Amino acid sequence: MPSKVAIAIGAHPDDIEFYMAGTLLMLKKTGYEIHYLTLANGNCGSVEYNAAMTSSIRNTEARAAAKILGAHFHPSLTNDLEIIYSLELLRALAAVIREVKPGIVLTHSPQDYMEDHTNTSRLVVTAAFTRGMPNFKTVPPRPTADYDAVVYHAMSHGLCDQLRRRIIPGAFVNTTSVHKTQLKALSAHKSQQHWLDVSQGLNSFLLALEDLSLAVGRLSKRFKHAEGWRRHLHFGYSAREADPLAEALGRNYLVNQPYERSLQRGI
Ligand SMILES: [Zn+2]
Repeated sequence: MPSKVAIAIGAHPDDIEFYMAGTLLMLKKTGYEIHYLTLANGNCGSVEYNAAMTSSIRNTEARAAAKILGAHFHPSLTNDLEIIYSLELLRALAAVIREVKPGIVLTHSPQDYMEDHTNTSRLVVTAAFTRGMPNFKTVPPRPTADYDAVVYHAMSHGLCDQLRRRIIPGAFVNTTSVHKTQLKALSAHKSQQHWLDVSQGLNSFLLALEDLSLAVGRLSKRFKHAEGWRRHLHFGYSAREADPLAEALGRNYLVNQPYERSLQRGI
């Protein structure tokens, strides 16, 4: 039996709330223990405060958001723009995975608009892969365990890859019933409203989530608010067809049949 533990691993404080928190909340409703980790501390997310002050503010905000979600909070491992695919980060992240032992691992899309997101995705994929490999040492040292862990990739920013091509979800999670809580968790990142106004022209932080979840909901043709996911290839993680999100969420999970049909099956 896969463990009823799920972890969401984002790049920056607020990424989980935008792309993954609805699914985390739905899993929690089915009895899953849920965990929250952003690899970077958000220290570059301000034009008003220095890096130390900014990371301190954002750490407080992220802890508040995790509390609203009812998730176990794990401290960040590095600074913004320093999410490099490095041995140091891999060992630290693999230690968290070994502690948590998640059966479901939620993270960014392997294609996304910025490298902190794509590098997070790569680090998570490898850290989960090493969960049962005692010869790969983590920092701090943590014992290995042999169990299924299925990795799911979230939608990318703007639902596009870095070359502006559309990304189609492989499956949808109905987040309508938890949408208000997701908005509340996002609103805990108070410092980000101003920053996103000036840096990325997001005219409303909360409206951006509203638009995103409604857009993915429309793609599903079934749910009002939704999050989209693509499941990582099973080799090294689980049985071929293991899909614990489907198992846990039942009618609130919808496989995107056009995506499934478009897959060129290997061996
Ligand atoms: Zn981000």
